[in-house]
Amino acid sequence: MKIIVIGSGIVGASAAYHLVKNNTEVIMIDKDHHGAATSAGAGIVCPWISSVDDDDWYRIAKGGAQYYPELISQLKNDNEENVGYKKVGAICLGANSEELERIEKEVGTKQIDAPELGDIERLSTEKARQLFPPLKEGREAVFVSGAARVDGRLLRDAMKRAAQKHGAKLLNGEVALIHEGDKITGVKINDEKIYADTVLITAGAWSPELLAPIGIELKVEPQRGQIAHINLPNTDTSNWPVVLPGSSHYMLAFDDSRVVAGATRETGTGFNYRTTVGGVNEVITEALNVAPGLAEGTIQEVRIGFRPMGPDILPILGRLDCLKGIVLATGLGASGLTMGPYVGKLAASILKDEEVGLDLVAYNPNRAIK
Ligand code: FAD
Repeated sequence: MKIIVIGSGIVGASAAYHLVKNNTEVIMIDKDHHGAATSAGAGIVCPWISSVDDDDWYRIAKGGAQYYPELISQLKNDNEENVGYKKVGAICLGANSEELERIEKEVGTKQIDAPELGDIERLSTEKARQLFPPLKEGREAVFVSGAARVDGRLLRDAMKRAAQKHGAKLLNGEVALIHEGDKITGVKINDEKIYADTVLITAGAWSPELLAPIGIELKVEPQRGQIAHINLPNTDTSNWPVVLPGSSHYMLAFDDSRVVAGATRETGTGFNYRTTVGGVNEVITEALNVAPGLAEGTIQEVRIGFRPMGPDILPILGRLDCLKGIVLATGLGASGLTMGPYVGKLAASILKDEEVGLDLVAYNPNRAIK
């Protein structure tokens, strides 16, 4: 079986990796667009604390978090250990003690089916500041030890390299689909035609552009996110937890004295790849409100990414009724680093007509086309 994977962000890289390890000929193609979401994503993996209240979302996001340790160990067997994944825990700040009690209770209920979320602990303001020193004084928190952070760029590149080690081919360039009758038979890239049994579309926010020439409107839109990377010289941030202040903003840290403060959620920007004054102001103001100790840090970089937002909160995953030879895996929105590796694995199973072990009805891609 020969599969072409269009787009090697977190979803495409994972699908390619799982396919090639399952005796499949794989060609990955990527254009390296500015604003690929995986290159900008913060990297929080903590589906148990979320403002999203949807069982189908939770099921696949929970599966995503649960799958990480297994994936990391598979990659280790392929000598790919530099992926920036670590279970550092998450500090969840509440407005008052009633809210913290509610969070504790909600996460406690989820713990029964998701023991991987680890321990739940109420933290005094002093303890919270020991774990994340820039935090403002006076806020108690709930700590969830199983939350993790991942460097999307490192993980994606590790999966791409591992896929190549197993025999996948990687091509650079922009592709268009070859459409014959009611079937996609391959792709055109740089004036060359490549045929395959099935084409997997994991092109993130750009996925609609591939289907539009065939007259299919895919309801996926880019949502711009601006996110600041702050350097704290001579500070060991490697074990700092994720901070969830209860809004759409958050902070997390990586090994290289770096705190990431995110992010804007800008709908209607199209692919306008720009750092805006308002965007930077928003993320920095929100971060300093919660963690004034970051004020002396250096703004190292502001990353911009386009989240692939589908018609609802759920991923778009599976085959289309109106077109053969194609599988879609996109629309992961704001949770793609959490569920992306798992969704890639599921897409690989769909392509191989294997049992996936999860009810996929809610993610049916036919709901997202016109
Ligand atoms: P992408 O990473 O965008 O990859 C698509 C790829 O397809 C690109 O490389 C592009 O160049 C390529 N492509 C497109 N069209 C073509 C074509 N015609 N030919 C060839 N190649 C093509 N998720 C979390 O779980 N936790 C977080 O903390 C988190 N934080 C985020 C913060 C920000 C600021 C942003 C922007 C996103 C965040 N996300 C987070 C969401 C997550 O990053 C995305 O959902 C995920 O990365 C989407 O991955 P993808 O593979 O679908 O798309």
